[in-house]
This record gives sequence, C-alpha cells and structure tokens, in this order.
Amino acid sequence: AYRKGGYHAVRIGDPFSGGRYIAQRKLGWGQFSTVWLAYDTRTSSYVALKIQKSAQQFAQAALHEIEFLSAAADGDLANSKCVVRLIDHFKHIGPNGQHLCMVLEFLGDSLLRLIRYNRYKGLKLNNVREICRCILTGLDYLHRELGMIHSDLKPENILLCSTIDPAKDPVRSGLTPLLEKPEGNANGGGSTMNLIEKKLKRRAKRAVAKISERRVSMVGATGEESSSKRERSLDGIDMRCKVVDFGNACWADKQFAEEIQTRQYRAPEVILKSGYSFSVDMWSFGCTAFELVTGDMLFAPKEGNGYGEDEDHLALMMELLGKMPRKIAIGGARSKDYFDRHGDLKRIRRLKYWPLDRLLMDKYKLPEAEAKEFAEFLTPILEFAPEKRPTAQQCLEHPWMNVKTMENVDAQMNNLHIKG
Ligand code: ADP
Ligand code: MG
Repeated sequence: AYRKGGYHAVRIGDPFSGGRYIAQRKLGWGQFSTVWLAYDTRTSSYVALKIQKSAQQFAQAALHEIEFLSAAADGDLANSKCVVRLIDHFKHIGPNGQHLCMVLEFLGDSLLRLIRYNRYKGLKLNNVREICRCILTGLDYLHRELGMIHSDLKPENILLCSTIDPAKDPVRSGLTPLLEKPEGNANGGGSTMNLIEKKLKRRAKRAVAKISERRVSMVGATGEESSSKRERSLDGIDMRCKVVDFGNACWADKQFAEEIQTRQYRAPEVILKSGYSFSVDMWSFGCTAFELVTGDMLFAPKEGNGYGEDEDHLALMMELLGKMPRKIAIGGARSKDYFDRHGDLKRIRRLKYWPLDRLLMDKYKLPEAEAKEFAEFLTPILEFAPEKRPTAQQCLEHPWMNVKTMENVDAQMNNLHIKG
C-alpha cells in the first residue's frame, strides 16, 4: 500500500507543513490513512496527524472529512461537544503523490482497544454511563445543532481523552503495534469496501468464536470464561471520550450513499433500503453501548447455508427484539430479497427469541435489577421503526443515564474537590 496513490511512508523525525509538525510515532491507521503522533513546534504540544492516501478518491474523501470536521469545530468554540477537534490541514508532497493531511487534537485509545484491554469482559456500568454520556453529547450536537449524520459510529471510532498506560500492562502494548504495516493488500488495489469488510470479518470471526450461537442453544452460554480471566484494573482512567472519523459523515438533507455504517452497527432500515436519518446513529450507539457492557458485539451476522449475511443480520435482530412489524419489514427497496409478503424471512424460518434483559442475565450474568434497567434504556434505541427511537437528547435524560450510585456521588465529590 506504500506506493503511488497509496500511503505516505513516514519516518520518525520527518517534518511536515514547512517543519511545523515533527512525526513521532504511528498511532493507528484506517482504510484511507495512517495516523501519526506529531509534535507541533508552534504550540509546543502533541497532535495527531492523519495522512491520507494520495489517490484522487482518497483526496476527495479527505476534503469531505475536512468539511465536516470544520463545521463541527466552528459550532463548538468551547470544544466541549465530544467531537474531535480539527486544528489544521495542509497538503504534503511525497514520493507516492500528494497527500492531504489533517491535524487533529491528540486523543487516546479507541473504545475497541479499551474493550480488548479489558479482555472482552465488559466495563463497569458506571464507566459505560460516562462513555455513553460523551457519545450522546457528541451525537446530540451533530444531529440537533449541525444536521449531520455520522454514519459510522462504532467502538473503533470513539477515542478516549486519556490513554491506557502501557507501562502498567505489557500485554496491551502488543495490541498497539506501532510500527506494523498498515492494513490493506500489497498493491493498494481492491475496493475499499473489500478491505473494510475483510477487516470486519476477521473481527466478527473472533467474536463469533467466543459467542455461543444464539440460534443453537442457551445451554453452555454461561459466563464461566469471564471468571477465569485475570482481573485488570481500569481504575484511574478518565472515561471521557470523543467521536472521531468523519470520513463517512453526511448532512441529513444531503446524503451521499445508500449503504452506510459498518456491518455490525448497521441499522435495519439501511439493510432494507427504506431511507434513513439521524436515528441510524442511535442504532449504532445502542450496539456500541451493549458491547461496552458485555464485551461482545450485539450482532455479528454471518452468511450460512442458503442465506446471506443481511438475512442473518435481520434474523439476529428479530431474535433479540421480536418480530419486525410487517409494514416495516416489507417497506424497503430491498425487502423482497429477504421477506415474504407476510413479513417473514424467506430463508430463515425458525427464530429463537431471546430478549435483551434475559440475555444480559443468563449469558452475561448481570444482576436482575441492573439487567432490567439497562434493557429498559437500550430497547427503545433498538426500535425497528426509526422514528420511534429516542433522540440523543432524550437518551441523555433517561433515568439509566442519571442513576445515582454511591460511586457516582463519590466521583462527583472528587470533581468538586478538584475544581474547587
Ligand atoms: P480512517 O478514516 O482511515 O478509519 P480514523 O480517523 O478512524 O481513520 O483513524 C484511524 C485510527 O487512527 C483510529 O482508529 C485511531 O487509532 C487513530 N487516531 C485517529 N485520530 C486520532 C487522534 N485524534 N488521536 C489519536 N489517535 C487517533
Ligand atoms: Mg476509522
């Protein structure tokens, strides 16, 4: 991928933008870019430098992202809306062509890394609440104030404002291969979607290997594994976070793509092509919140004998949420591919209903009261009818978000203490 039209190879110490930014180490990469920690010599601070692949379509995507990040920054002068801040952007000419570069505020690990670090056990509910508050603050801002749909919300695209200290945990350094090659095939060819899907398939495979299949049986789906995992402490990590990656964002009244979102976080109306709006982000948020609590992806569809990934995805949704109302099931441009005229799936006939509160209790061993409360918060967010889903603002006001536990009270006292 490091060739014409592809990634820009960076060495530690390389200067950018006339020497203003000095590359320090690689932070991560996505399908379009590599992201480097850089030192900003003008402000004497660290920044994240997102260096886009050089080919025309990537440059186009970067311009698109810059447009959305600029809009987000312009409306949030106090930088309090939980959206990553764009500091600067410029062009950089290298051997592989001209690369658009974005200078972003430097953030910490993604929630995906946090989940992995915690060995897919799920986080404490108070930590989840704090993370959810940030995500919802960001979404409320994007939706209500800017009219923007993020379209690719998932744990990978939410970054902590602090870092997990690798010194405390040697295993974790292995999760952050700093000098590895970016993902992608050697010649940089192949469609972007292919690369994304491949990456996700690998991840889904891992998840599926862990999750005993919902459709098979409840027996054996116990939490045994988790008890044997060595406890690792996330104490002292500030769970504030920000939404990143605006490469797929769109305006609610000016949409670009029919197929949006990463597979596991994709809303039913996107699969059925019934049209979409802000509430697709709420669906992805719901999937993300579940994953934070349990460590498992909520839906990890895969194709099977005689049915495709989409149909499996719809089946998994209905096994958790109940039957999709007929009107919704048959109302999309793609409905006929999956549903008969009664609103039953064509190829997957026997569904095994396993509602959210029971799943949380039986498989994830949440105490009954906690499972019920969390399910009450999450179930409306996973409404099949997009217009019935609560808005980010409504979620922020939900009782589950505002639970007063002793721990919360302690944290608030500490905050007061620090501020005072
Ligand atoms: P892509 O659009 O190519 O997916 P992202 O914007 O998602 O790119 O960034 C890719 C990865 O780079 C992220 O998952 C994260 O690990 C890292 N990264 C991105 N932005 C920042 C930032 N502001 N601070 C620290 N790391 C970042
Ligand atoms: Mg990304």
